Amino acid sequence: MILDGLTQAIGNTPLIKIESLSALTGCNILGKAEFMNPGGSVKDRAALWMVREAESNGSLMKDGTVVEGTAGNTGIGLAHVCNNKGYDCIIYMPDNQSTEKVSLLKTLGAEVRVVPTVPYADEENYQKQAGRFAKTIENAIWANQFDNTANRLAHYETTGPEIWEQTKGNINAFTCATGTGGTLAGVSRYLKEQRQDIQIIAADPFGSAIYNWITKGEPSMTPGPSITEGIGNSRITRNLADTQIDGAIQVKDQDMVDMVYSLLHEDGWFLGSSSGINLCSAYELAKKLGPGNTIVTILCDDGSKYQSTLFNQEFLERKSLRAGHVK
Ligand code: PMP
Repeated sequence: MILDGLTQAIGNTPLIKIESLSALTGCNILGKAEFMNPGGSVKDRAALWMVREAESNGSLMKDGTVVEGTAGNTGIGLAHVCNNKGYDCIIYMPDNQSTEKVSLLKTLGAEVRVVPTVPYADEENYQKQAGRFAKTIENAIWANQFDNTANRLAHYETTGPEIWEQTKGNINAFTCATGTGGTLAGVSRYLKEQRQDIQIIAADPFGSAIYNWITKGEPSMTPGPSITEGIGNSRITRNLADTQIDGAIQVKDQDMVDMVYSLLHEDGWFLGSSSGINLCSAYELAKKLGPGNTIVTILCDDGSKYQSTLFNQEFLERKSLRAGHVK
């Protein structure tokens, strides 16, 4: 099959059995290989849907500009889509992010504006600066991934149906962590419409409010920090609001580290930290549900952006973590 260009190459990723975890639990633990998207992550889908929505409602026209506040993968996805469609791409990023991310975005042709790291409530927060700046230029949009529901629509229209078709409806549970919440919300909506009894479980790192929101009804922060990137949130976004979620699993960084190293050395997959959190959650869920169940999760991106952190022994030691093994 020949795909008609870059945008058609986004999505339709394989669903892959995780051999080690499936053997350990007697379940089918399946990972959706989002790292195989052109920009290397699950965020390509949201980037394309947000740009398409702006094109179709007339807010983004030929030679326009896409502005976004993002710490990483959404910017990378937007930069790819903007290059393909001839738009300028301006990315606001907090100054606590790795220099690899800044240089990668610049290599892709985006203009990167690194701003001081301040909480969301502060008007100088990178997301708010991106929103204000987009208003000052003609023919520009603020993608606004956290509250623009074109993000979750991408997963409702593609990721969810793909999982349903790939499993032929033979799925008992879906679990993944949330950044904007677009993936969990879109996939949950689609799967619950097919079968109400498919369990939707949020995975959450420490230092995030999602676990308490789901288990106690209050989005209060759990103690952190976590070395994971791109996931966890201190607030409930418009994408995540009114999503049917059946439970939550909190994952310690050490368990995530053990998971990514086990996957690398045993299964051969080189994955990032959020994939590690997702697989830990799927593994816990498999042990709880018992043999014979099919559990799907998301392999959000690969490990190459984390060579100076998650895959660096000195970094791990500084964080009192060590490369271990799934027990
Ligand atoms: N993993 C990684 C590596 C990410 O960059 C993101 C997005 N920030 C997520 C997971 C979470 O995806 P979502 O925004 O759809 O919740």
